[in-house]
Parts: sequence; C-alpha cells; structure tokens
Amino acid sequence: MSTHTVITPPAMLGIVGGGQLGRYFVIAARNMGYRVTVLEPDPLSPAGALADVHLVAAYDDTDALEQLAATCAVVTIEFENAPASALATIADRTLVHPPTAAIATCQDRIAEKAFLEEIGAPVGPYTTVVDESSLEAAADFSYPAILKTARNGYDGKGQITCAEHAELAAAWESLGRVPCVLEQKLPLDRELSVVLARTADDRVAAYPVSQNQHLRGVLDVSHTPAYLPPGAPEAATDLCIYIARELNFVGVLAVEMFVVGNDVFVNEIAPRPHNSGHYTLDACNTSQFEQQVRAVCGLALGETELRVKGLAMANLMGDLWAQGEPDWSKVLCNPAAYLHLYGKAEARPGRKMGHITVIAGTAMGSADLARRLRRQAGGD
Ligand code: ADP
Ligand code: MG
Repeated sequence: MSTHTVITPPAMLGIVGGGQLGRYFVIAARNMGYRVTVLEPDPLSPAGALADVHLVAAYDDTDALEQLAATCAVVTIEFENAPASALATIADRTLVHPPTAAIATCQDRIAEKAFLEEIGAPVGPYTTVVDESSLEAAADFSYPAILKTARNGYDGKGQITCAEHAELAAAWESLGRVPCVLEQKLPLDRELSVVLARTADDRVAAYPVSQNQHLRGVLDVSHTPAYLPPGAPEAATDLCIYIARELNFVGVLAVEMFVVGNDVFVNEIAPRPHNSGHYTLDACNTSQFEQQVRAVCGLALGETELRVKGLAMANLMGDLWAQGEPDWSKVLCNPAAYLHLYGKAEARPGRKMGHITVIAGTAMGSADLARRLRRQAGGD
C-alpha cells in the first residue's frame, strides 16, 4: 500500500485494546469526524464505552480481526501486548500502524534489547535467562539485579528483584520459568521519557522530555519539561527519533530512559501513547492521542510545544478509592488542576483509574500541588 495514504473522515479507524489510552484515541478521532471500532474482550472497558463499534472478543479472535480488516481504513493499538502475529494476518488487507514487526520487537524485552544493541542505542547491563544453563551462567552477573519476563509485563508486573544469584532460581520459578531478561539494578538519578509521532513518509514530531517518578514500579508523578543540563533534552530527543526511524515506526511511540550520572540508557519502548504524555491533553495544542490519529491517518502532525512554562501529572490509582469515591471537590475547585477519570467500573489497588494534571508555574511547583490535591482527594 502507498506510504502516502491519507485517510479522511468519516472513515472507520480500528484500535486493539480498550483501556484509557484507547479511550482518548476514540475521543480524539470522533472529535475529528472519524468513526472508531474497538477490539476489547472486556464488555465494560474505558474505550469500548465510547466507541462507535465495540467488538467484544479476544485480541486474536479471527472473526473480530476479519471485521477490523473489512471495515477499518487503518488499525492501530493502545497497548503493546496486542498480539503482533494476529495483527500480521490482516496487514495485507488494511493498513496496520505501527507495523507488526515494530510491535513484535517492542512486546518482547529480549527482542527489544537485541534491536537496541544492533542499532547502537545504549542499554544497561543485562543478560537473558531462558533455560537452566543461562540461569547458572547468570552467577557471573552483577547484583542486585531485576528479573523481568520478556513478554506481557506492564506497570512493574512480572518483575522480581534479586539481591544475589542465590535468589535467582526461585525468582525464575515464580515467574513460571518463561524467557526473561536479567537487568542490573541501576542507581537511577532520573527517569525520562520522550513521546513522539512518526508518519509513514517519515515526518516526525516530538513532545518535550518528561521526568518520571515511579512508585513500586508504576508511574506516580511526571513533570514536564524535565530539568536537564543544556543540550541533554535535544540529545535524548534525537536518540528517540533515531530509534523510531530504525524501527520503521508509524504512529505514536514513547521511549523510557534511565539517567545514571552522565549516562543515558534506554529502558524500554512503548509502541503507543504513554502515561507520561497525558499532560498533552491539557498543555499542548495537539494531544498525543490526536497526534496518534494524525500519524496513522497520514495527516499533518500537530504542534507539540508546551503552551505553558511547566506542568505535572499525578496518577490516581485504585488505592485512593479504599474509603469509597474520593472527594474531588478540592481538585475540581482549583483552577490550576484538571481532573481525568477513565470510567473504570471497579477500583482495584494498583489499577490506574485516572490522573490529575496541574499547571501552576514551574514543573516542580506543579508536581507539589498535584501531590497535595491527590492526598486531599484521598481524605488526608
Ligand atoms: P514496565 O513495563 O512495567 O513499565 P519497566 O522495565 O519500565 O517495566 O520497569 C518499571 C520501573 O521499575 C522503571 O520505570 C524503574 O523505575 C524500575 N526499574 C526497572 N528496571 C530497572 C533497572 N534495571 N534499574 C533500576 N530500576 C529499574
Ligand atoms: Mg516502563
């Protein structure tokens, strides 16, 4: 198919996955006059609730994929565990952006690291644990180290920290003896991310670099722009654009990076919009989700500059619902704060239920206020 395909409304767009990232894609696309079909097995999903058509079926269901191929001008994804091989079966009949090879690389940590090394992108020290002999060979590795399943991990799930090699066998056992990477646990000074879009004809647009704080392996608070030495944001952005080009990526992609002293390592690539890019909904002319629509439809990419000096985003996890619905009045009555709730039926601990964006002068000041408003909503 031509790389210059331009898809215009009221075309039907398809998206695999029904979470909050898909929900914002649906909103952006429908605002622009497109229709959207969501493939998501959960009948009560955030994206399915707002879709024109919700196919309630497994992500690899043949009939559902058939319907996507037959009715959608382009099919994209909102989470990296959408099965690349299933999507490959429809890629000869409709556009699939990002390309299934790029999805396949990003959904397997072993393939992802091999790709990054092959293109000369910096990755932290790691080895693989795939069988008994690699398990034994990892005795020479540096500890503490984090064992991560190669596939299906997210929000820190499928990861176990090992203080020494003696703990590795039990850790691998409890992860089900599936293929894993073992990463040296790095003394992180900072975590950064860059969200960018690329079209099939190689136009790119990157958002400013964000700085991310995680709690128990899950993004907690993110502020933008990151405070970095002169030249560092440009270098990080160039690295991410290089990665997107080498992946032949089309759509919106995020690269997570670790900063240790003067070194920057690529942690992982998310082949979709990213939690750390949610601020673009409130602080940029083009949200990362509208940008995803624009990129996969071959349109002009929208502006990515911040309209404000600095901002922060705080995630709202299900834990905040321990005492019932949080009290949103302080957040909603503060003109610097923007509340987003994803419409999830059940608030489970560790589940991302929404986020707050705060635009209050500097990025740091905004982060403090975002945390305070979140505490108040939880009753503290
Ligand atoms: P996920 O797919 O769940 O986002 P990540 O590999 O990004 O998994 O890990 C989640 C978080 O755990 C990271 O953002 C970071 O805070 C921490 N982490 C992961 N790997 C390492 C590492 N090698 N060294 C130090 N911290 C790490
Ligand atoms: Mg991550």
